[in-house]
Amino acid sequence: MTDTLAPLQTTDPIVQERRVLTAIPGPRSQAIHARRLAVIPGGVSSALPVYIARAHGAIVVDADGNQYIDLGSGIGVMTIGHTDPAVVAAATAQLSLVTHAMFTITPYESYVRVAELLAEHTPGDFAKKTVLLNSGAEAVENAVKIARKFTGRPGVAVLEHAYHGRTNLTMAMTFKAMPYKAGFGPFAGSVHHAPNSYPFRDGLSGAEAARRTIGYLEKTVGASDLACLVVEPIQGEGGFVVPAEGYLPALQEWCTANGIVFIADEIQSGMARTGAYFASEHFGVVPDMVLTAKGIAGGLPIAGVTGRAEIMDSSHPGGLGGTFAGNPVAAAAAVAVFDAIESRNLLADGKRIEGVLLPALLALQGKYDVIGDVRGIGAMLAIELVLPGTGSTTKEPNPAAVSAITTYAAQHGVLLLSAGTFGNIIRFLPSLAITDELLRDAIGVLDDAFAAL
Ligand SMILES: *Cc1c(COP(=O)(O)O)cnc(C)c1O
Repeated sequence: MTDTLAPLQTTDPIVQERRVLTAIPGPRSQAIHARRLAVIPGGVSSALPVYIARAHGAIVVDADGNQYIDLGSGIGVMTIGHTDPAVVAAATAQLSLVTHAMFTITPYESYVRVAELLAEHTPGDFAKKTVLLNSGAEAVENAVKIARKFTGRPGVAVLEHAYHGRTNLTMAMTFKAMPYKAGFGPFAGSVHHAPNSYPFRDGLSGAEAARRTIGYLEKTVGASDLACLVVEPIQGEGGFVVPAEGYLPALQEWCTANGIVFIADEIQSGMARTGAYFASEHFGVVPDMVLTAKGIAGGLPIAGVTGRAEIMDSSHPGGLGGTFAGNPVAAAAAVAVFDAIESRNLLADGKRIEGVLLPALLALQGKYDVIGDVRGIGAMLAIELVLPGTGSTTKEPNPAAVSAITTYAAQHGVLLLSAGTFGNIIRFLPSLAITDELLRDAIGVLDDAFAAL
């Protein structure tokens, strides 16, 4: 089938407002979707089959001209906003200078600059080095590779509800079977899932939860067999689980005492998302390695493993790299993102967004008893939905309510993402460019969605 409707031709600037002009999905999206079904496998599914034609700031525009308030930012990638002029200018300029050179053949300066910026802005006042890669999963793979080389040990510890990617090793490290792992095994070995800290569900203090995690790993693996412990300071796909106070510092202390590399996967939580450069800062931990991807380059694919120089230097020459890894166009975009965070004081926007969104979500929780928990930091917030009337007792997950709410929101021009091992969490990852006005408009839609449940 072919797309019979001509694409909408407009170059008008995108006004930062919600506009629903057609049924969702509209006729143009439906026509493209029909073509897609013939050539794209069902394994690549889309949360909402509206086809995006343009985007700017916190608004995405579909093929039918509908405008959505984007509360997902392509899963926390468009942190500084869609088509940010500084990112577009930097990437465009770089395209016509050098598009690709391969850093492991003939290097270029922007790769070095990104490494300097990561060394400067990741937690810890010590010498750091960075390897650049293409994707988050590839960063996780390389972090494990380096930690194993440095320690000479095989074991990889991860937490329940973790998400680390879709490659073979990172599928093994990811917790949830459906849809990430089911039928795709066998998986890489020596990966161990330990219980995490999930205050809403386990009621444990940070110290108690850390004792449980450490006790589990000591019993089932043994500290001396572990190369690394990989944690998301705030779990992403797992449902924005914020660990209890003291949990992460206790894990770090145990890692340090036992020669285990403590790795923070900040792929979703990092790069100014939470009102700090990295979420680790909120918990007082200084990881041995920090992993970045998603928000680092305003939508261009690049990822980083930044770690203590002595750990990063353990690999032999030629042991690390990749054809497209640290691509010059993506690296130029990453430099522009760091510059924007500094020059526009975007860390303050994370706090501004929390200041508007968090009280509004707590007010909704007071109104609707399906909202069992409200949590998160900065522009990384979530609500966990439970069966009505069970909020404080059984905490029975309510994924049906999540899909009803996200569907209602999409129909009314608000893009919301679900999350969580039980699929019962709605997460909010707006761009730092979102205005208070757009946030309030989206909250109004959310309120209507809950009222319509
Ligand atoms: C998205 C994500 C990854 C994987 O990144 P990709 O670029 O999709 O490979 C790994 N860890 C976390 C915490 C993520 O959110």
